[in-house]
Amino acid sequence: MDNKKMYVAGEWQDSVNLEWFETKDPSTGTVLAQVPRGKAEDIDRAVAAARTCFESEAWQQFHPAERGRIMQKIAAALREDLESIALLETHDTGKPLTQGRKDVEAAAQYFEYYAGMADKIFGETIPVQPGILDYTLREPIGVTAHIVPWNYPLQIIARSAAAAIATGNTVVAKPAEDTPLTALKLAEIIDQTTLPKGVFNVVTGYGSEAGAALCEHPDIDHITFTGSVQTGSAVMAAAARNVKPVTLELGGKSPNVLFEDCDQEEALDWVSRSIIQNAGQTCSAGSRLLIHQSIKEEFLHKLAERLESVSVGKGEDDLDLGPVLNEKQYERIQGFMETARNEGAKFRCGGHREQGDGLSGGYFFQPTIIEGLSPESHVSQEEIFAPVMAVFAFETEEEAIRLANGTEYGLVAGIWTKDASRAHRVASKIRAGQVFINNYGAGGGVQMPFGGYKKSGFGREKGLEALRNYTVLKNVALKY
Ligand code: NAD
Repeated sequence: MDNKKMYVAGEWQDSVNLEWFETKDPSTGTVLAQVPRGKAEDIDRAVAAARTCFESEAWQQFHPAERGRIMQKIAAALREDLESIALLETHDTGKPLTQGRKDVEAAAQYFEYYAGMADKIFGETIPVQPGILDYTLREPIGVTAHIVPWNYPLQIIARSAAAAIATGNTVVAKPAEDTPLTALKLAEIIDQTTLPKGVFNVVTGYGSEAGAALCEHPDIDHITFTGSVQTGSAVMAAAARNVKPVTLELGGKSPNVLFEDCDQEEALDWVSRSIIQNAGQTCSAGSRLLIHQSIKEEFLHKLAERLESVSVGKGEDDLDLGPVLNEKQYERIQGFMETARNEGAKFRCGGHREQGDGLSGGYFFQPTIIEGLSPESHVSQEEIFAPVMAVFAFETEEEAIRLANGTEYGLVAGIWTKDASRAHRVASKIRAGQVFINNYGAGGGVQMPFGGYKKSGFGREKGLEALRNYTVLKNVALKY
């Protein structure tokens, strides 16, 4: 079996304690590799490497345009090896291969997009008074920590690390323990470039060990955390003890809001994909459908038909729907289904494990539509992280807005209507970081700022907005 090493200070290393853990294929349960179980000592080593590199002449004097050129090469290397990296991601996460390919392409796009910004980060001059020249410098923040979830491992590490490197920082990344392989693959690619050793480090390990140690480390300058609300809150508390800034990208319970005049055929495609993608294990999954009472029956009939025809199989088989991550996630989903049944909910389709030929090695869950829940119930409020959608009908625009805003989350929302005035009016009233009108996701959108309102987190990733996370502003005033 493959025995992996982590990547610290430009070297491939075992963990200090010489311990390992297994990473498995969610489609089959097959062990893919043994991965070093990094702990506090390994985090110390990686943070020290990132600090030394950050303060080195080699990195301080590194020409920003050259950073950009190297990042373009990283993007090209990801694309060149797209098929095998996609397969690796598919094995580690269970997602269908086509989705694995899209993730690799998205990772390449992050490096490409931020490469173009590497030499375009500057401050401004500020009029103060005659005889004073006042200007700002936008400087790199320093050693940046990146804690990554298991659902989009490569995309998410690329999303924040590319922005951090473009702005001249160094990186210590901690991938999720369930899906560490593509972060190590990215390290292999970066290792082949001329970036100074220590710019990019990956420590593999458990959240409670390596993750917690990274967040508590006094010598990091910023934490980007992507994951659950519960862990995000613990990360923020740890950061607070050392007064470190955090960017939190957390969960969602995102609504698609369908008005009576919407294009139902168009909506059907996006709404069904928004809950099927990555088996619903997506922060921005369209897990709530808010629909005008007058079109509810007609639309739900078509939606159930569509979801029941979804093909299910192992990631490598590249069908519509792969497995959920593991038994623990499956048990969690079953718990939500039981609660919904106890609350008298009606299942329009799904609600059970899918048990077909060749599916016994993983936990495959049927696409599920639940009706009849109270909007305040646990199942209506909580992120389930499964191909499970809860439906609520409304009569008026006000009611739709109230339902859309009626959870503690606020990540994404979709509005479906042909009435442009209504679309903009509703968009302005929805408390979510991204609002889509007559689409959902706009194809990924590396360029579009992304992040949450309320418990979905704060700070923005993607787009130029993300560069703010990784730079700090200095004001200089000169008297002449
Ligand atoms: P999680 O919170 O369990 O874990 C996320 C990461 O945090 C992992 O690397 C884990 O090892 C680490 N971790 C765990 N405990 C830690 C601790 N005490 N200190 C530091 N790090 C710790 O989340 P998950 O189950 O891997 O991912 C699913 C969640 O991520 C969902 O809620 C999903 O909505 C969210 N997510 C959000 C976005 C976004 O951009 N908003 C994107 C993808 C996923």
